[in-house]
Amino acid sequence: MMEQPQVRIRAGSTVQNSLLNSLPPLALYIHVPWCVRKCPYCDFNSHQTPEVLPEAQYLEALKADLEQALPLIWGRPIVSVFIGGGTPSLLSGAAIADMLSMVRAYLPLLPTAEITLEANPGTVEAHKFKAYGQAGVNRLSLGIQSFNDQALQALGRIHDSAQAKAAIGFALDAVERVNLDVMYALPQQSVEHALEDIKTALSYDTKHLSLYHLTLEPNTVFAKYPPVLPNDDESALMQDAIIELTAEHGYEHYEVSAYAKPGYQAEHNRNYWEFGDYLGIGPGAHSKLSFPDRILRQSRLRNPQTWMEQALLAQSGHLAEHKIVELDDLPFEFMLNALRLRDGVPADYFEDRTGQPLTKIVPTIRKAIEKGLIDPHPSRIRTTDLGWRFLTDVQEMFLE
Ligand code: SF4
Repeated sequence: MMEQPQVRIRAGSTVQNSLLNSLPPLALYIHVPWCVRKCPYCDFNSHQTPEVLPEAQYLEALKADLEQALPLIWGRPIVSVFIGGGTPSLLSGAAIADMLSMVRAYLPLLPTAEITLEANPGTVEAHKFKAYGQAGVNRLSLGIQSFNDQALQALGRIHDSAQAKAAIGFALDAVERVNLDVMYALPQQSVEHALEDIKTALSYDTKHLSLYHLTLEPNTVFAKYPPVLPNDDESALMQDAIIELTAEHGYEHYEVSAYAKPGYQAEHNRNYWEFGDYLGIGPGAHSKLSFPDRILRQSRLRNPQTWMEQALLAQSGHLAEHKIVELDDLPFEFMLNALRLRDGVPADYFEDRTGQPLTKIVPTIRKAIEKGLIDPHPSRIRTTDLGWRFLTDVQEMFLE
């Protein structure tokens, strides 16, 4: 599960006459806000499904939301689409087909665009995945989390291990590119059980794996009633074994939690980490949009019903925030994302995508090089092995 980047938006604005010489690639994110029930660890914008899913009203509101955003992105090609949630696989094949027809009608979607849909194994059947594939979805991301029934229950998931395995089979029949989300360091999980999960995930030989350490996020049931979790030594053992096992199976560990077969990195997510642009539509979705003279961040109302009502009024009432990013915030925002990539980014991207001179971060980069945390590469910004192990500390150096 890939959460959209959410960055603090400061009040106030600073507009320069000319900031960016060219605009970065633009991706589209579509948020589907409903889930069968809320998982106790989840801090995403997900809401329990109403008795009848308001599919038609949701699609109408999505169209209205997109129409209002069009003047911000006129003519810009869309490099990838991510339908995330919540649980997008609650929607019918026909709804996803309508959604993607609308996207193609309004936006220049590149023929090669990666189109990902997130699915919950508790809500899928073979024909649904086939229908998503026919609608144009070419990548399915499955929220497996574990193959152990006890662990799944502790996580409050609606599926069991058998459903998880069946969903993987359906997904592999429908599209070539399948991602499995698996979590480790789960309540009362032993190192042995964590590795059994990873080995089972590896046995499907999917193109991509997202392997996350469970974290207790504020405002979740787990934060209020913390479960017993593996200690730091145990979770470090899990992490080390995961890195070893994935490498043995030919996966490239290219981002903190992402592992891909060569040529199958997640393009949509890579665009976030490379500080590309994204338009987010749907309740609670976030956008980062560049213009020659400014970088804009927007977020939408989080409540599905209120967002739908407001989007349909077409008076911008569906927006929760609409702010120009402070220039001083850009270097940290850029480095926070770019350093997540094991190979970092070309150094040119800093000026191209923040409009700030590289000299702004050179003193900090020099300090990090002296400490052995950043690679002294002439044209890339990337961590060393040591910097990669202490990534949060390296990222925080750019806050100063
Ligand atoms: S299925 Fe995913 S989005 Fe929905 S509540 Fe659970 S973790 Fe959150």
